[in-house]
Amino acid sequence: MPAAIIKQLCDFVDASPTAYHAVENIAAALEARGALRLDEGEAWSLEPGRAYFVVRAGTALVAFRPGLRPPAEEGFALAGAHTDSPALKARLEKGLSGKGFERSPVEVYGGPILSTWLDRPLSLAGRVALRGAAKASVENRLVNFARPVGIVPNLAIHLNREVNKGFEYNAQSHLPVLLSSSGAAPAEPAGSAALLRLVAEELGVEPGAILGADLYFVESQRCVQVGADPALVNGYRLDDLTGCHAVLDGFIQAPPAPHGQVACFLDNEEVGSRSLMGADSSFLRDLLGRVAALQGSSSEGFYRALSRSFSVSVDVAQAWHPSYPDKYDEAFAPIVNGGPAVKVNANMKYATDGEAEARFRLLCEDAGAPCQKWMARADMTPARPSAPCPRP
Ligand code: ZN
Repeated sequence: MPAAIIKQLCDFVDASPTAYHAVENIAAALEARGALRLDEGEAWSLEPGRAYFVVRAGTALVAFRPGLRPPAEEGFALAGAHTDSPALKARLEKGLSGKGFERSPVEVYGGPILSTWLDRPLSLAGRVALRGAAKASVENRLVNFARPVGIVPNLAIHLNREVNKGFEYNAQSHLPVLLSSSGAAPAEPAGSAALLRLVAEELGVEPGAILGADLYFVESQRCVQVGADPALVNGYRLDDLTGCHAVLDGFIQAPPAPHGQVACFLDNEEVGSRSLMGADSSFLRDLLGRVAALQGSSSEGFYRALSRSFSVSVDVAQAWHPSYPDKYDEAFAPIVNGGPAVKVNANMKYATDGEAEARFRLLCEDAGAPCQKWMARADMTPARPSAPCPRP
């Protein structure tokens, strides 16, 4: 990857510790290039070829450019990525105090490799819902500490000599995040949460003003290049901020076309996409239906538009790992920086069929990009039930 793109990607990753921040940054990039933000609750008026976007629940965004020709004739070209990644979600209201330690309990979001979350400085980021100025109103505020606020320490190896043979972490007892250690008995009243006070202080509000929150302990280290050549990048949330970055860049650079162009940034892939703002929600279909109707399509015209559409789900692939060759079928193990990999599975764990693969290969050819293919070993089943394919 060229150095300038790696720098852009790392800046985007560093500024996007949660799905809320990713969506905010994607919205800012679109607005800076003239895209118009629309509200699902308002009436829309669309101009063919102009860029628009809609945000749902703060963590999902769909950008689109209505096609220059009727949707029923040309359909939509879609690409989608997901905004969420595994993390430790804070249980803000509850604090754990004892023997001078203050800890914050957590809940595991998605499927992280838990051992990689221990013994490293963690930051905190997400969205906080505050009591609004008007009666019965709520004010949402994003927060990003962008500095270490806690750590999950392992037990000393002297007390568990077997740890390197495998250890099962218990989320309730082993994963609370250590926030402070005064070495003395806690001065705060029982039940007072150190994290709640920390967040209130960061926002400049009283703890009582915080009525709800979606806050996550996240990696605090910046995205960096690793090694002697620029090919390796290490950073939190590369799955799937790399996809978000690529889809955003592609959408921004694309000139208006006869067909509608749609870039999806959807939430909750890590937990099955079944939420108000996930790929399995009504979000995308609602939006495409509105666009088609506003461009003069009848109900039948909308279904014709769907049948003429093509969607690419952009996510990471499991590249060849030289230390675990037995986990791959060598003929279908993509190489890092060898180009996009199309993922195929006979039992449709991925949506790609032969025709879709052929179409994707033609798109790669057109873009001058090499194309690889990923298939699991025939004696293994891919872990994910499905890719986060935006379902129109
Ligand atoms: Zn992913």
